[in-house]
Amino acid sequence: MAATSQTTPPDLLLRGGHVIDPGNGIDGTADVLLAEGRVAAVGPDLPARGVDRVLDVAGHYVTPGIIDMHAHVFHTHRRSRLSLDPHVQTFSAGVTTVVDAGTSGWRDLADFKAEVIDRARIRVLAYVNIVGSGMLGPWEHDVREMRPRLAAAAAEDFGDVVVGIKTAHYWDFRAGLPFDAEHPPWAAVDAALEAGDRCGLPVMVDFWPILPERPYPELILEKLRPGDIHTHVFAQQFPVNDADGKVEEHLWRARERGVIFDLGHGAASFWFRNAAPAIAQGFVPDSISTDLHTGNVNGPVFDMLTTMNKVINLGVPLADVVARSTVAPAREINRPELGTLSPGAEADVAVMALDTGTFGFVDCGGVRVDGSERLRCVLTVRAGEIVYNPDGLGLPLAGRSVAGRRGE
Ligand SMILES: [Zn+2]
Repeated sequence: MAATSQTTPPDLLLRGGHVIDPGNGIDGTADVLLAEGRVAAVGPDLPARGVDRVLDVAGHYVTPGIIDMHAHVFHTHRRSRLSLDPHVQTFSAGVTTVVDAGTSGWRDLADFKAEVIDRARIRVLAYVNIVGSGMLGPWEHDVREMRPRLAAAAAEDFGDVVVGIKTAHYWDFRAGLPFDAEHPPWAAVDAALEAGDRCGLPVMVDFWPILPERPYPELILEKLRPGDIHTHVFAQQFPVNDADGKVEEHLWRARERGVIFDLGHGAASFWFRNAAPAIAQGFVPDSISTDLHTGNVNGPVFDMLTTMNKVINLGVPLADVVARSTVAPAREINRPELGTLSPGAEADVAVMALDTGTFGFVDCGGVRVDGSERLRCVLTVRAGEIVYNPDGLGLPLAGRSVAGRRGE
């Protein structure tokens, strides 16, 4: 049973905001009516009659609830201290769906669902790690832990929450020695792809380190299938740009093949020296995500909105950044009902202020870019319930007598 309220949330009219709903081609002033936990209508001058609460959001942006498709939230994991509670730094960044990227392997998925997913107020989805014991530990290098049949079976058993198969962190655990017959270079990727074939789901790959035995172009040009995802695209180790600063040909060719590139900021995977020239040449990650975990939540990642702000200040237009944080990840995880304000969709909405001034944004390589715009979340609605409202939008002023607000 989900921990979201079983009572019907009050109808809510968000009046006069600038709606950016890229999935429906909306980018302009409109009202948004939420009723019975769903989007009822988006349009100009919607009638307020009979609506429980009307919030004036003029001057703010209104977007679909943000999707962070790479984070780590299995915080009850027995063997790993990687994860955050899924409500940490999410609602406050407009995030209403968080996708755990393989913290749980096929062995612990039932526990993950019972202990975290089913109890969360935020929507939690998951990639299943091909490694049975999941992340993060030396067992990730044990080929015997990689079981395509069991991973695919787990994905099918929990099809309501599983969106794909994850592989990460596989190399020879006897560091410095070459791969051998028992530790083939592509063991983890191949096992994940076999699992993905078996259950019909995409594979997300974290590919580190790059070794001569498993070159990166081979991963994205030969191994990955259309719809499979390479996360951490702007990590230090990837040859994103050639010696002349031009985006590598294999990236364009892989994108043409349908391979998806996800940002996956992380503690070490968003380097402006890779990202800035690539973005300037039009190679923007298909989706923006944080890889938020205990090791980066206090920097350099902080949260999804900060990650989006970095991309905005590298020159990507605001509406495009919203698209790559809503409708694009929804498509990548095969959940087209998410990341939009289509009538009938669950009422997941973010309201943002765009502050102007001079702001610094940091990367994983210890450098900063300065920029002039910064989104700040002022309201988050999850399934029709207001779950984040730091400025008290719509609340009565203290000291006034307010009728009809018993017990609120
Ligand atoms: Zn990760």
